[in-house]
Amino acid sequence: MTAQTVQQGDLVTVIGLEVHVQLETDTKIFCGCSTERTDEPNENVCPVCLGLPGALPVLNEAAVEAAVKIGKAIDADIPEETRFHRKNYYYPDLPKNFQITQYDEPICADGELEISVEGDRRTVTVERAHLEEDPGSLQHVGGGGGIDSAEYTLVDYNRAGTPLMEIVTAPDFRSPAEVRAFLAELEEVLEYLGVFDAERDGSLRIDANLSIIPAEEIDGEDTAEIGAEALAAANRTEVKNISSHKGAQKALAYEETRQKNAIQRGRAVEQETRHWDESRGITVSMRSKEEEKDYRYFEEADLPPLRVSGWKEEIAIPELPTARRERFEDEYGLSDEAASKLTSTKQVADFYEDVAGEYDPDLAATWVADNLLGELNYRDMEITAIEGRLEEVTRLVELVATDEITAKNARETVLRSMLDDGRTPDEVVAEEGLGKTGEDEVKRAVVEAVEENPDAVADYESGDDGAINFLVGQVMQKTGGSADPGDVNQLLRAELED
Ligand SMILES: [Zn+2]
Repeated sequence: MTAQTVQQGDLVTVIGLEVHVQLETDTKIFCGCSTERTDEPNENVCPVCLGLPGALPVLNEAAVEAAVKIGKAIDADIPEETRFHRKNYYYPDLPKNFQITQYDEPICADGELEISVEGDRRTVTVERAHLEEDPGSLQHVGGGGGIDSAEYTLVDYNRAGTPLMEIVTAPDFRSPAEVRAFLAELEEVLEYLGVFDAERDGSLRIDANLSIIPAEEIDGEDTAEIGAEALAAANRTEVKNISSHKGAQKALAYEETRQKNAIQRGRAVEQETRHWDESRGITVSMRSKEEEKDYRYFEEADLPPLRVSGWKEEIAIPELPTARRERFEDEYGLSDEAASKLTSTKQVADFYEDVAGEYDPDLAATWVADNLLGELNYRDMEITAIEGRLEEVTRLVELVATDEITAKNARETVLRSMLDDGRTPDEVVAEEGLGKTGEDEVKRAVVEAVEENPDAVADYESGDDGAINFLVGQVMQKTGGSADPGDVNQLLRAELED
């Protein structure tokens, strides 16, 4: 990020995040219950995740492996030994009255993630990332439907015990847009690691704290390095209930404006917890939150210390999005924009590399990044819908590259038919008669069009250049749309010059 010093009168926004990520494992973190989503409440439960007396937790190896992968991806320190603690609080979604989490010895510490905002790269520090269990979920029913207005509340423990990774950043963000870029990058990395499913409802939950620091307190300092003193002096609000990167940007933009308005009018900003109300697009004040000390963390005596030394070295991670983007630019000569699109998910990147390996990487990039992703997106389909049809996509690119069909027909007829009715490119070409018309045939059509349309020819000859478009249209009609309009235009002009 370019250094930006604070000017008189500036108000500087400072944001830090706590991101809760549900890890994709088959079973819960401390018992063998399935993490599969089901509509039947309290189906995937057992004495452990229901917190029945005497039931003992057993740590899920897959959850630890996912945590180590995340640690490696963000270049964090992964200590030889870490511990679990009990965070004590009373709430109906937590049957044991404590949550098993990590406290002063998290599995990952001091990591970082690079983000790109409007072409500027900057590094966000991840102070810590730790493993914990998800509580159950509550459903407020009847009345106003809200937490304070419903007639009654139902509890579902299917979610209780789903493994979570809580990722805590330093207060490194200076705008809501940076937060969004970070969350998008984080999601990409987690998906590349195969530890996260963004499509799953509630798989990403974000708490953000935001303060506004007046310039007087940090006059002349670089905005990227606001001191701890200035931060401690500012009141901050914690915004809860954010569940997507778009939501985060909206919630924080609202909160930023709200606080700046208060300061500009000489009012104090209250230190409080606020709830993001997505449907109304505003944050609302909640009861004040417990302090860390209220949770009375105890060491979890039912779980031994967790040692990952000797094992963590064996856990491999794949090439991550940033590295892959850079390699695509170097190896295939792609633009930054194309490389970004093609590495947006691991599946798309893998698919592109498979097509590029068979054919011209540049043409493959256009076909995968623009045409294929565009048509899939239009149909609300994922790249996975076409994964088994790699050869067909390669064949389509080949048909265009070898000039057997026009790019227009390839995109508008062949590709769309492939997606809509499952035909292969060769089937579509044969059945729709799309084979590119031979040059002789196009020439014949050009001569015919000139003979049949003396008025348009006269217009052209008297200087009306637009008349050529009419003639091109006539030739296209005669050739069933399978001629190249650019070629037709040239042939027509040549014919009319004679
Ligand atoms: Zn269970």
